[in-house]
Amino acid sequence: MQTSFTPEQLADPHVAESEKILRKCVHCGFCTATCPTYVTLGNELDSPRGRIYLIKDMLENSRPADREVVTHIDRCLSCLACTTTCPSGVDYMHLVDHARAHIEQTYKRPFMDRLIRNLLAAVLPYPGRFRLALHLARITRPFAGLLAKFPALRPLQSMLDLAPAAVPPASASARPGERAAEGEKRGRVALLSGCAQPVLDPGINEATLRLLARLGVEVVVPKGEGCCGSLVHHMGREAEALASARRNVDVWTREIEKGGLDAIIITASGCGTTIKDYGHMLRLDPAYAEKAARVSALAKDITEYLATLDLPQMESRGLTVAYHSACSMQHGQKITMAPKQLLKAAGFTVRDPAEGHLCCGSAGTYNIMQPEISGKLKARKVKNIEATRADVIATGNIGCITQIATGTEMPILHTVELLDWAYGGPKPAKLSA
Ligand code: SF4
Ligand code: SF4
Repeated sequence: MQTSFTPEQLADPHVAESEKILRKCVHCGFCTATCPTYVTLGNELDSPRGRIYLIKDMLENSRPADREVVTHIDRCLSCLACTTTCPSGVDYMHLVDHARAHIEQTYKRPFMDRLIRNLLAAVLPYPGRFRLALHLARITRPFAGLLAKFPALRPLQSMLDLAPAAVPPASASARPGERAAEGEKRGRVALLSGCAQPVLDPGINEATLRLLARLGVEVVVPKGEGCCGSLVHHMGREAEALASARRNVDVWTREIEKGGLDAIIITASGCGTTIKDYGHMLRLDPAYAEKAARVSALAKDITEYLATLDLPQMESRGLTVAYHSACSMQHGQKITMAPKQLLKAAGFTVRDPAEGHLCCGSAGTYNIMQPEISGKLKARKVKNIEATRADVIATGNIGCITQIATGTEMPILHTVELLDWAYGGPKPAKLSA
């Protein structure tokens, strides 16, 4: 694609990077076929190619974002299916990241939109506040129907709909500290405790800690780590996202220098995609660029790390698993085979649901901010998963677990919970019910 930026515009490194990305797009439109919003809405402006045109026009003219651009960029799930499909290697992720930051800086959103975004940014990344909010949601849930009458309040209704009926008690797995390996030590890793996941489903990191200990891996949950920043990053709130990234880079760098780390383990693929991008996010910060690149290189999804440990083949469990590959896993991190190979080696029969490339509609806070499109995608995803007639669903991202669980009676677990069970851990409670 031809571009016409001036040398003055290209002096801004963010614009210079976006210009390079834009020039790679050859308008072929292959990406439209796998874009969930284009497939759902059928509007070119809700396709990757349409959004690329909108972003190009906005940046080339140094224009503030307008309502049309904001509408179509807000509808993008950042699922990155387009980057998997694109034959020209267009780096849509960093282009839309730039567009979102530009929107945040130049566009004044309506009052309710600002209020809800501020609320989400102030609550979700902090486990204590999030737990309190979930308790409040339980109490106020009976009024969710009233909110539906006011379109501007729909996101609040979605929050109540997504909140679990019971909030699990706080788990020791989230506490900072070292967990010793059992038997001969074969590795040392840091585990990202995370923000929303340990509140919604602490069993995921509990299973991870148990499994890693049995496999001889020492695990540290470092003091001071926090939210990876992806939530605010996808809202275009760059200063907050970079502050989260710097804090975590400092914490993990201390661990690397203290005891050495073979990997930084992440059990939510949405967070993994962002942490693997810290090197890029902080590339312009001379004090952090190198440290952040080192952290990104060490970041591994739990299944990616387990795949290096050569786990033994187990007898069949007689249980069929529908594997839902989160977008951040398959498109963001390009991890497609490891989770399924691990499940098969652990004795499970694995089935791939149809249209596996399409997002379930969770996408961070998308299911709160865009409930209608998200609801359509969830229904489509659940239909495809249920058609597998599997006994259980496995996936690697808490957002997908929360989203899909509200649309089906099938039990849905994190992949590592099944692996922990297969290799000597307790049977997951959701399978005992
Ligand atoms: S597939 Fe790639 S090159 Fe083709 S229109 Fe989409 S982004 Fe552009
Ligand atoms: S990230 Fe997903 S929703 Fe956004 S343009 Fe690409 S395929 Fe479409």
